[in-house]
Amino acid sequence: MSNRIEEKLYQNRYMVDAGRPHIKVREHAVPSEALKSLVTTCPAGCYSENEQGKVEIVADGCMECGTCRVVCAETGEIEWNYPRGGYGVLFKFG
Ligand code: SF4
Repeated sequence: MSNRIEEKLYQNRYMVDAGRPHIKVREHAVPSEALKSLVTTCPAGCYSENEQGKVEIVADGCMECGTCRVVCAETGEIEWNYPRGGYGVLFKFG
């Protein structure tokens, strides 16, 4: 059995709540260093930087680890909620 983290994460499933993302990046002119760091620290790769240098999120695949919530708690650049019941990540255990 492989121990690669990507292969383990691939075992999870995700229920997309179309049009109702549970995490949003608030409108910003210039992202803080904290917000920019999420492009590399989000374990699900949900964050990216667009051509204007702004940080965007596609929350599909989010593992609800809370990293982005904690990292941007002081800057207030993120609106974070858990997904509605029945949506979001479905972890594979074992
Ligand atoms: S909660 Fe974790 S997995 Fe989800 S977007 Fe934030 S850092 Fe990524």
